[in-house]
Amino acid sequence: MATRRKKRADVDVNEDERHYTVSEELFEYGLADPDQLPAKACDGYCCKSGVFLSLPHRDLILEHVEIIQAEMDDIQPKDPEEWFEEETEKDEDFQGGIAIGTEATDNGCVFLNAAGRCVLQILTMKDPSLPQLKPFFCRLFPLTVVDRELTYDDHCEGEMVCCSVEEEGPASLIDTCEYEFLVALTPKQFDELKERAGHN
Ligand code: SF4
Repeated sequence: MATRRKKRADVDVNEDERHYTVSEELFEYGLADPDQLPAKACDGYCCKSGVFLSLPHRDLILEHVEIIQAEMDDIQPKDPEEWFEEETEKDEDFQGGIAIGTEATDNGCVFLNAAGRCVLQILTMKDPSLPQLKPFFCRLFPLTVVDRELTYDDHCEGEMVCCSVEEEGPASLIDTCEYEFLVALTPKQFDELKERAGHN
């Protein structure tokens, strides 16, 4: 499996930039327990250490400070100065080649509320006129991009059954993670992937 960093990466892409190689892992692995699909069993464990995102996505979030503050509960820091780490890192998988991490508290990422839900996701779902505020790689998880390769993110491997995989596991990633694949791939690219996997 791919070697991971302390936090999941983020990458911002648009329709014209979706040119990833695809790891063989994505053909070989399946979810360990198909009754515990990520969307059903998620309790926010994957958000415990925060996430990396690009500087343009950080700026997009900061353009929506007031509505984010209004959505936050009492355990979340309302001061935007406390939302992002000071240090940045060079990483070509991010738009502009620079990554910045969200801060995390004892509850996890600053954007995670007490109920284990991401306020950026809640806002985007509530108001379709808003831009997508949830970081790209959060939406992509349990897939990830490392050095322009789309692959499996083992961030929760062995910790949460909902995002743990095994070789030839009972529910293939290609069958169960269509939403996540379509975060990174165009529908045509995903169709080609399914065909390659013998799923068409
Ligand atoms: S931004 Fe939202 S989805 Fe991403 S790590 Fe933070 S709480 Fe989780």
